[in-house]
Amino acid sequence: MKVLICGGGVIGTSIAYFLSQRNIEAVVVERTGVANAASGKSGGFLALDWCDGSPLAPLARRSFALHGELAATLDRDWGYRRVDTLGVVASVQQDTSRYRNLQSPDWLGAESAVHGQIGTPDTTAQIHPALFTQAMMDAAADKGASLVNGRVDGICFSPDGARATGAIVNGAALHADAVVIAMGPWSILACQWLPLPAIYGSKGHSLVFQYEPTPESLFVELEWQAGQMRSPEINPRPDGTTYVCGLPGDDPLPVDPANVLPEPGACETLRQMTASIAPELGASAILAEQACYRPVTQDGLPLIGAVPGIAGAYIATGHNVWGMLNGPATGEAMAELIAGGETRVNLRPFDPVRMAAQDPGAIF
Ligand SMILES: Cc1cc2nc3c(=O)[nH]c(=O)nc-3n(C[C@H](O)[C@H](O)[C@H](O)COP(=O)(O)OP(=O)(O)OC[C@H]3O[C@@H](n4cnc5c(N)ncnc54)[C@H](O)[C@@H]3O)c2cc1C
Repeated sequence: MKVLICGGGVIGTSIAYFLSQRNIEAVVVERTGVANAASGKSGGFLALDWCDGSPLAPLARRSFALHGELAATLDRDWGYRRVDTLGVVASVQQDTSRYRNLQSPDWLGAESAVHGQIGTPDTTAQIHPALFTQAMMDAAADKGASLVNGRVDGICFSPDGARATGAIVNGAALHADAVVIAMGPWSILACQWLPLPAIYGSKGHSLVFQYEPTPESLFVELEWQAGQMRSPEINPRPDGTTYVCGLPGDDPLPVDPANVLPEPGACETLRQMTASIAPELGASAILAEQACYRPVTQDGLPLIGAVPGIAGAYIATGHNVWGMLNGPATGEAMAELIAGGETRVNLRPFDPVRMAAQDPGAIF
C-alpha cells in the first residue's frame, strides 16, 4: 500500500513515521521544505493535562506519552526535556508585586511576578519543533518513506469520482492507494478538491534569542502599553537559545508558504514586550524574527479522519495551538485508521462529518 501525504509539517511527518513503522509506504509531498511553516516556528511546548475537560484530552495524553517514548527510543536529539512551567504576571503600567506567590527566576525583571507553578516535569515538556519534525521525517525515511519536493495542486480520482487515486503534484499525477491532506492552514486549498469544511490560518510572530537562562517555560500575562493585555510565552531551549511568541498578526494567509513574513514593526514590539518581562533576554542577540499560521477549524477541534464520501481520502489538520503536542498521537491514529484497524484514541470528536452534523444543509 502506498500513501501520499500532502504537507511536511509535524502532522504529515508524524503520519509518515507511524505508517512506516507498519511497513506501509509513505510519500510526503512538501512545497517549501520540511518544518518550514508553523511546525518549525512554534514554541514546542508540551503538556500532559492542559486539554483535560475537552474532547482533546485522550489525544493529548496519548501524545504526551508518545513524545517521551520517541525521545527514549529514537537515536536522534530534538531537545526533548521535561520542565517546570510558571505562570507570570507582568506590567508596564503598575506594580505587580502583590501577585508574587513564588520566587522569580533571577533573569526576570522586577516588574515580573511569578504567581504560580502551572506545570511540573511530570506534566510539562519541551521539544525543538523543527528538529522534531525533521527527525520524524528522517526516521520514516529509514523505514522506506520518501520526500517529494513539490506543490500539490489537486487530487486524482477514479473514473466514477468515488475514490482518491493520488494527487496532482507540479501539474502531474502522482498515484497512490490513499491520500492524506496535512497541509496545516493550506488545507483550505483542499476544499476546492474534496468535500471538506474550511480551515483557517491564525497568524503569530516569534523571536529566537541567543540566551540560555534557567530552563523554566513561562506563560506571561502582560499588561502592555495603553492597557492592552498580551500573553507571551517564553521557552528557553537546551541549545543556548530562548524562544518567545505571543504577538498575533493580521495578514491573510498567502497561498505560497514561502511568502509568510513578519509584519512591519511586529518583531520590534515583541522584543520590547520581552524586555519588559526579562530585560537581559530582551537585550540579547536575535537569531530569528519569524511568523507562522496555526491551522484552526470553526469549532476549534482538529479534523482527523476519512473525507466523507471519497474512499481513500483522509485529512489531518486544524490542530491550532497544540499541533506539536498532538502530532505523534495524530500520526499513530492515522496510521491505524489507514491500515484498517481500530484506533487507540477515539477519533469520533475529530471526524470531519461533525461539521455537516452541526449544519445539516452544509455542503462543505
Ligand atoms: C506562534 C506559534 C506558537 C506555537 N506554539 C506551540 C506549542 O508550544 N506547542 C504546540 O503543541 N503547538 C504550538 N503551535 C501550533 C503548532 O505549531 C501547529 O499546530 C502545527 O505546527 C501544525 O502543523 P501542521 O503539520 O498541521 O501544519 P504546518 O506546520 O503548517 O505544515 C503544513 C505544510 O504544508 C506545506 N504545504 C502548504 N501548501 C502546500 C501544497 N500546495 N503542496 C505541498 N505542501 C504544501 C507547507 O509548506 C507546510 O510545510 C504554535 C503555533 C504558532 C503559530
